[in-house]
Amino acid sequence: MSRCPECDAEIEIPDDVISGEIISCPDCGMDYEARVIEGEGVRLVPAEIEGEDWGE
Ligand SMILES: [Zn+2]
Repeated sequence: MSRCPECDAEIEIPDDVISGEIISCPDCGMDYEARVIEGEGVRLVPAEIEGEDWGE
């Protein structure tokens, strides 16, 4: 379970989520991209459809 950075609603992340999968917040409708980070779990980052600028 994770929380939406935008509205703080709970977002359920499937156990078999794959990195890059888009997950929408059921509350505000924001799209997030699931990033599976080894040893840390799944992190939600805002999905950027346009202007792909992954600085880090
Ligand atoms: Zn939300």
